[in-house]
Amino acid sequence: MAPMGDNVVVSNVNLEKLLSMKGGKGEGSYANNSQAQLWGFGLSPMQALHARSMLHLLEESLDGVHLNSPEVPFVVVDLGCSCSNNSIYIVDVIIKHMIKRYESSDRWDQPPEFTAFFSDLPSNDFNTLFQLLPPLANYNGGSSMEECLASNGHRSYFAAGVPGSFYRRLFPARSIDVFHSAFSLHWLSQMPETVLDRRSTAYNKGRVFIHGASESTASAYRKQFQTDLAAFLRARSIEMKRGGSMFLVCLGRTSVDPSDQGGAGLLFGTHFQDAWDDLVQEGLISSEKRDNFNIPVYAPSLQDFKEVVEADGSFTINKLEVFKGGSPLVVSRPDDATEVGRALANSCRSISGVLVDAHIGDKLSEELFLRVERRATSHAKELLEQLQFFHIVASLCLSLEKFSLGLEEVCAFSPTKDGKTLLE
Ligand code: SAH
Repeated sequence: MAPMGDNVVVSNVNLEKLLSMKGGKGEGSYANNSQAQLWGFGLSPMQALHARSMLHLLEESLDGVHLNSPEVPFVVVDLGCSCSNNSIYIVDVIIKHMIKRYESSDRWDQPPEFTAFFSDLPSNDFNTLFQLLPPLANYNGGSSMEECLASNGHRSYFAAGVPGSFYRRLFPARSIDVFHSAFSLHWLSQMPETVLDRRSTAYNKGRVFIHGASESTASAYRKQFQTDLAAFLRARSIEMKRGGSMFLVCLGRTSVDPSDQGGAGLLFGTHFQDAWDDLVQEGLISSEKRDNFNIPVYAPSLQDFKEVVEADGSFTINKLEVFKGGSPLVVSRPDDATEVGRALANSCRSISGVLVDAHIGDKLSEELFLRVERRATSHAKELLEQLQFFHIVASLCLSLEKFSLGLEEVCAFSPTKDGKTLLE
């Protein structure tokens, strides 16, 4: 149940406690509105092609992971897992790929056991996610990994949930082989204080998102994104095993100007923005109430992202690309404006509904999304044509300079069956 709207400001202090995608399995839930993020399902052929190229990049990144002794569990983490099948799908892809690599390696006879950690903020609906998990294959009871894989609808890994912000430490040092995170790193850890401060030049007057905002508002958002990403990298650089790999996908933009947020701008800077203005004009909320609400999302450019990785220095960039991704509007009848309008409102709601409920209460939130739907319905055609996300895709591994991967250390860490070194 969302807290009451009175006196609740989506401010720095409580974002971490509050933020989540809409839980459960209802019409406005994330589980029911996240097909666009899902790598290749429910997408148009063109979008599926992009999703497949991203999967290809993921597999390339996994090909760089060192195969440690199968006596030690192989650990995969999905950061910002939320509560839909997307996370389960991608963890499955990663583990199946690693099993194949172990099976075709002439160094090891068998794959290790696998652990997958599903991590998100404590307010995430972990219950829904856990209920979506397929049952554990019985690979402790003597059946081989091949048999496990053949037994469709089962998972070949032990699963656990890890609550906490990925902008801080979540795991013990040197314990994780593969980090994956999709569509999460564009969420800021907090709204920059200046954006909510009426006395600041960065105060985002009249707006609820960075899209179309002033230069100082935009640069405050950008600075927050870069500070957050640096904290994320610092934490992961400690937690990742040497020889591990990290694959990140987040919303991105192609414009150099941060106040042009591309697809995210269209989602939160147009009909959503206008719906807030409607509430103000109809006297349902004050303009200050609107101005105190800001969507804590920032779609970075490649340059924004690269600057942070390079300044931090813990990771080497294997790949860093911006991809044309899907549209959040997955509809069965594109010429039905009502369906398109509802899809946009549901999509907005599944992502920002929890924050909106907390800021203005459930009733006014209902009113807001009704207006989003109405406005989107009357612009259905252009939404279908123009609403398009870009994604930043990054494949990173620990920088050798910083951690100087000594030969002796690797051998001592992972002795092979024939005593050879792991460095090929
Ligand atoms: N990876 C999923 C979910 C993306 S939705 C998919 O591909 O469909 C974004 C998720 O990031 C949300 O569940 C949100 O709670 C989570 N998130 C945002 N900020 C976070 C933070 N600081 N730490 C951990 N998770 C965070």
